[in-house]
Amino acid sequence: MAARFGRTRSVALTGLVGTLVDVEAHIGPGLPAFTIGGLPDKAIAQAPDRIKAAASSIEGQWSQIRVTVNLSPASLPKHGTGFDLPIAVAVLVARGALPHMAEGVCHLGEIGLDGSVRPVRGILPSVLAAVRGGIRTVVVPADNSGEARLVEGVTVHAVRSLEDVLTGYAAVASGRPWPTVDVPGAVDVADERGVDLADVVGQHRARLALELAAAGGHHLLLKGPPGAGKTMLAERLVTVLPPLTRDEALEVQAIRSIHGLPGAVRALPTRPPFVAPHHSSSQAALIGGGAPVIRPGEISRAHHGVLFLDEAGEFATSVLQALRQPLESGHVVIGRALSTVEYPAAFQLILATNPCPCGNAVGTGAECRCSTLELRRYAARLTGPLMDRVDIRVAVGRVSRADLGGPPGEPSEVVAGRVARAREVQLARWSEIGQRVNGRVPGPILRQARWRPPRRALAEADHRLDRGALTLRGYDRVLRLAWTLADLAGRTVPGSGDVGAALQMRIETAA
Ligand SMILES: [Zn+2]
Repeated sequence: MAARFGRTRSVALTGLVGTLVDVEAHIGPGLPAFTIGGLPDKAIAQAPDRIKAAASSIEGQWSQIRVTVNLSPASLPKHGTGFDLPIAVAVLVARGALPHMAEGVCHLGEIGLDGSVRPVRGILPSVLAAVRGGIRTVVVPADNSGEARLVEGVTVHAVRSLEDVLTGYAAVASGRPWPTVDVPGAVDVADERGVDLADVVGQHRARLALELAAAGGHHLLLKGPPGAGKTMLAERLVTVLPPLTRDEALEVQAIRSIHGLPGAVRALPTRPPFVAPHHSSSQAALIGGGAPVIRPGEISRAHHGVLFLDEAGEFATSVLQALRQPLESGHVVIGRALSTVEYPAAFQLILATNPCPCGNAVGTGAECRCSTLELRRYAARLTGPLMDRVDIRVAVGRVSRADLGGPPGEPSEVVAGRVARAREVQLARWSEIGQRVNGRVPGPILRQARWRPPRRALAEADHRLDRGALTLRGYDRVLRLAWTLADLAGRTVPGSGDVGAALQMRIETAA
């Protein structure tokens, strides 16, 4: 028997970064065997069992042939069951069962023993990488096809089985279109509706804090007793933030695609994600981790959106410390002995905390049962470098009966309009230093003569700094917030009222 050769393309993912992979199959004389080279993981090494079983139903027995598959570049580690389909296609090309046009097509998908083609994670970033690599046609599992179609500039063929692949190529080879496959249950991305700031009654300080946080990209601490509506407030921040751009939405959806099977998707999200992990979540779930593939954590699911840590003091200290790097850089690096993966994690942080472990401290009318030691420990959990990044700290009280009788709050749409205008002003001002929002501008720049508000506006803050009542970091936070107050009010530079309000916002929860 003469040696025969077939090849096709696929994509290997390292984090969100995809690399085009050549999948080559040789069929030659010799003892029957099916081997795969080129750094396959355990799942890929088991592909021959699935592929042989699947192929037997459609294309005769493969048990008597000698197949050598090579995945290149060979030095790149390859993971997961998504290589089943391209390996099967390369072998089918080598056997003459598929036309050579399959060589220029990118294939992704897991194969079941019965010949079905099953969905895999990471289709969106894989197809994006394929298109960047010059691929114009992809063949993907039907259940992933909606996700693949979010990418522009590529023809997507959906398949449910290996047989669909043979039928599809046969159709195209004879000049007919690839048969379409129905994908039931395709839905627009959920969670885009439902919540609105108009639902929040009273809470004027907290509403202002949310608007400031949205406008200036400031991290926020909400401190108040249980039942004060901290969660309700936090989940409405995303309703006043600017909508995602197309590139941002692709990144958000790509992370969802790797985090878990996203189900049938047919539209990109427009609202920034809101992610609220429980304080008992593991470090791997929150920050990212796992094996053999390192998956993104909740902080990456919150990329371009909001990460809300309710009862923030209850999170493990190691988790809170692990937030510092992404807050600084906008991404997280997860390393293990043999590999390191980087995921984006540029999120806006909202921390919520009770006033004390029992929740009854000052101002709630109930008696606090916490010991001095408990109170001190509780306060100590939310201090230091993490809190240095939180510009806004606001006390949230329980809603009073007077509030309930009052007019409904402003709807999110109106607030979002002001936020959008304030963001335009900031973009124009800070683009030369590579920033977009006040919340990200470093203190030393804010204190430069060029950006410093007038001396009289800063008199009170300077006085507190001189007395030691305000740290330098606290002073910088006041400057950042004063800029956002001024931007929202349409003032070109913060006045003493803006600085005073910013100081107030810091002090009210300092006790
Ligand atoms: Zn207490």
